[in-house]
Amino acid sequence: MSFKTEAIREIDEKKDLICGISDSIWDHPELGYHEDHAARTYIDAFRAEGFEVEEDLKGIPTAFMASYGHGRPIIGLLAEFDALDGLSQEADLREKKPVCEGGAGHGCGHNLLGAAVFASALAVKKYLELSKCEGTIRFYGCPAEEGGAGKGFLSRDGAFDDLDAALTWHPGDINAVSMGSTLANYQICYHFTGKSSHAGISPELGRSALDACELMNVGVQFLREHVSTQCRIHYAILNSGGRAPGVVQANADVLYLMRAPDLKEAKDLRERVDDIARGAALMTSTKVDIEFIKACSNTLPNRTLSEVLQKNMDELGAPKFDDEDRAYAESFRATMDNKSTAYYKMLVGDVPDKDKREELLKEADAPLHEMVMPLSPVERSSAASSDVGDVSVVCPTAQISMATMPNGTAMHSWQEVAVGKSPLAKKGMLQAGRIIAGAAMDLFADPDKVKEAKAEMEERTGGAGFESPIPKDVKPPMNR
Ligand SMILES: [Zn+2]
Ligand SMILES: [Zn+2]
Repeated sequence: MSFKTEAIREIDEKKDLICGISDSIWDHPELGYHEDHAARTYIDAFRAEGFEVEEDLKGIPTAFMASYGHGRPIIGLLAEFDALDGLSQEADLREKKPVCEGGAGHGCGHNLLGAAVFASALAVKKYLELSKCEGTIRFYGCPAEEGGAGKGFLSRDGAFDDLDAALTWHPGDINAVSMGSTLANYQICYHFTGKSSHAGISPELGRSALDACELMNVGVQFLREHVSTQCRIHYAILNSGGRAPGVVQANADVLYLMRAPDLKEAKDLRERVDDIARGAALMTSTKVDIEFIKACSNTLPNRTLSEVLQKNMDELGAPKFDDEDRAYAESFRATMDNKSTAYYKMLVGDVPDKDKREELLKEADAPLHEMVMPLSPVERSSAASSDVGDVSVVCPTAQISMATMPNGTAMHSWQEVAVGKSPLAKKGMLQAGRIIAGAAMDLFADPDKVKEAKAEMEERTGGAGFESPIPKDVKPPMNR
């Protein structure tokens, strides 16, 4: 048996530990920057497994790094563990029912995400022990992926600077190496301050902050026509100034999330929205304070690393689902009124081989995706954003998606939370762990691949290097 095969077996040996951590994190859903249980669970487990752990990474209490080995290359595995607000849901139940009304839930599968990467780290440690290869494996506990840009702040502060490559994954409903990009974004809060007054007796004395918010939103609606097609602008009124229409609202706050295909365009978009906010303040004789919340880069794909992941995914295959998993998945699909095969069909459309396309299309409406997608020659940008984007500009980064949920499950849905402890989710999680581990082992065995991946990254960025979109003085939004 090769060192690699033997090392990957470590994941089967430690399956109960890995699945136990995933379930425990599912049972304790924590919001971004408050992942105390998750961070503690991993830190204790890594110390018990003989890793060295650095806590409070870059001053963030729930960020940490666990490492094993010495010398180069240094390969980073990126883990997430935060949950989503308001998505509390009972496990395995085929109807929407929270465990705790208004509570958080793992609607993005980050309980599985971190645990799979933990599994990879254990297997890679075993490989380094057996092969006596030079190199260091690092597990990064990255807080607050959901709206907190944990990796963005860690990147800005240099946590990934000495990495030679980074690997990660995301739970999903397909088995594929993610060769696409994501959108860069800026999240900015606009705080308007006016003057309160009796809206009936002395409206002339009042200056409405709520009016300013509304005018800003109208201005932005007109802006939408004059941005490139891939841009996205979303907003939420955080504070409308009060509940009494008879009082002129002296304070109002609106939060904007602006996305664009690259950082330069996102920055330009943000500046135009800032101007609209200033214009709205001018029109209403109010003041606006512009608060920078967070930002992230678009993801830079890396074909060299993606090919290494693809080779391992082809060799190890998709998760091995059985009839029970398929029936379970189908019973959840029956509860979904928003299933769509459009995205899957679009990905299949990019596959150059006609026979392969036809084979993959047969699975379009299956309860679970059980085939492995070939590496796409097309680099599509998703309309979402990820804080992995910043890491991908610091060092070559690649990621996969693995089926851990029924085909067609919407992300951030109660169904995604409900299936998060199921046997099928665990099969997908463990398989993702094996594939990422296999790819990391290949990189340790052939450090020239790492150099090739770096050269590719430099070619894609024109050697520009990483410049964080987050200003130095902005602190992680830990209290939002
Ligand atoms: Zn998410
Ligand atoms: Zn996620």
